[in-house]
Amino acid sequence: MKVRVRFAPSPTGPLHIGGVRTALYNYLFARQNGGQMILRIEDTDQTRFVPGAEQYIIEALDWLGIKFDEGVHLGGPFGPYRQSDRKPMYRQYAEQLIRDGWAYYAFDKPEALDAKRKEFEAQKKTFQYDCNTRMGMENSLSLGMDEAQRRIHAGEPYVVRFMFPDNIDITVHDLIRGDVTMNSRLLDDKVLFKSDGMPTYHLANIVDDHTMEITHVIRGEEWLPSAPLHVMLYKAFGWEETMPRFAHLPLLLKPEGNGKLSKRDGDRLGFPVFPLEWHDPKSGEVSSGYREQGYLPEAVVNMLALLGWNPGNDQEMMSMDELIRLFSIEHISKSGAKFNVEKAKWFNHEYLQKLSDEQVADLFAPQLKEHGIEADRDYVVRVCGMMKERISFPKELWDTCCYFFVAPTEYDPSAIKKRWKSGMTTHMAKVIEILNTVPFEYDAIHKALLDDYITGNGLNMGQVMNSLRLAVVGKTVGPDMLTLVMMLGKDEVIRRVQRAIDTIGEVEN
Ligand code: GLU
Repeated sequence: MKVRVRFAPSPTGPLHIGGVRTALYNYLFARQNGGQMILRIEDTDQTRFVPGAEQYIIEALDWLGIKFDEGVHLGGPFGPYRQSDRKPMYRQYAEQLIRDGWAYYAFDKPEALDAKRKEFEAQKKTFQYDCNTRMGMENSLSLGMDEAQRRIHAGEPYVVRFMFPDNIDITVHDLIRGDVTMNSRLLDDKVLFKSDGMPTYHLANIVDDHTMEITHVIRGEEWLPSAPLHVMLYKAFGWEETMPRFAHLPLLLKPEGNGKLSKRDGDRLGFPVFPLEWHDPKSGEVSSGYREQGYLPEAVVNMLALLGWNPGNDQEMMSMDELIRLFSIEHISKSGAKFNVEKAKWFNHEYLQKLSDEQVADLFAPQLKEHGIEADRDYVVRVCGMMKERISFPKELWDTCCYFFVAPTEYDPSAIKKRWKSGMTTHMAKVIEILNTVPFEYDAIHKALLDDYITGNGLNMGQVMNSLRLAVVGKTVGPDMLTLVMMLGKDEVIRRVQRAIDTIGEVEN
């Protein structure tokens, strides 16, 4: 059996990272088994269609390296891959179910259904269109098929509903959860098809999975309640033999663990829940994306893979190739996975360290340009090599490294208070003198300044070196001080130290 899986999003907005994880698990499973991965767009609900969403889904998965073998954007032997383009083929399947006694036409108007609901509510009950109520409604079972056909020919709108047999147990074999059984009395006669010729999700999904020869359905847990209907549809069509195997993935939970991760959690806690930035075409609202926030695709993939799955040990860093090799449905957890913002940042930090200094310099280039800096490429590459371990996101580069390119214009007041003690202008003048007289080499400056001057005169090493740092950087952070001095060059360091002497001046304490 050749493994064929599909990712089947509805184009109702930007793809949530939970959906990205579903796509990723499908991809890992397909690749591991030498199978095929299909992108099918489920757009039967035209009322929820959002322009641009399909393109967004394709771009997001492409950015993350989740590749397809067939799909709406690639074509393939089982196309078309957009359900609205498959519209003409669904009617025959709805009619087949009616012919075989698995479905019926229903004519109930929205008002009639509403009235029924109210009637039940008044008796503190909930109305469900099912084996107990269907004979009291307007359908081809209660009216007879002749009357139903007459109404259809007269142009009356109708839907086709599935007819659940009364009181049978339906078992879904789930690869993650084991057997999940539900009694048909709990299920309502779902609408499968509407008179405008559009199937609903349930019918289109089953017909497509069957005709596209899908072998495994790996999807979010929110679809588990629909799975008994889907199993019954396979039975009703006589497709049980080739029914795909199901795996329902655990929910992605809020960081605190209570409830599904939502866009609001992302806004509240400052992390994106969408892979790419999304501009809502109706409201104009902009939602942040992992890509635009400076996450690397490898980091997002690695982080998502571990939200609900583990390799069976505590290995955390895994490339796409390793994930393909190590992935297994047996190691997917049954319980929801809590989203962890700190972990996401940690992964990004780790993957940034794997980039070459040149690659980090490429990421830095736009920021340098924005600040009007034209620096020597080798110098920028060296700065990035030295400083990348201090950042988790490319956007942090400027704040972390700006003093390599521009002299400080102000000095951290608390650092002045703590480090720039009385006599410091004399010590800084000495620094200038040393730089002007000894050869401009690391060891020579080390000897003249740290050994002979500071240690030799019993000065406080921390006070003097941190004051020098304050003069050169503007605050008391940064890499090894003499390395920085060597990189900036003699003249630039002297200029900065002189400016600090002039600006801060002599103090009393
Ligand atoms: N169109 C459904 C969704 O948007 C697909 C569910 C399934 O994979 O069966 O999630």
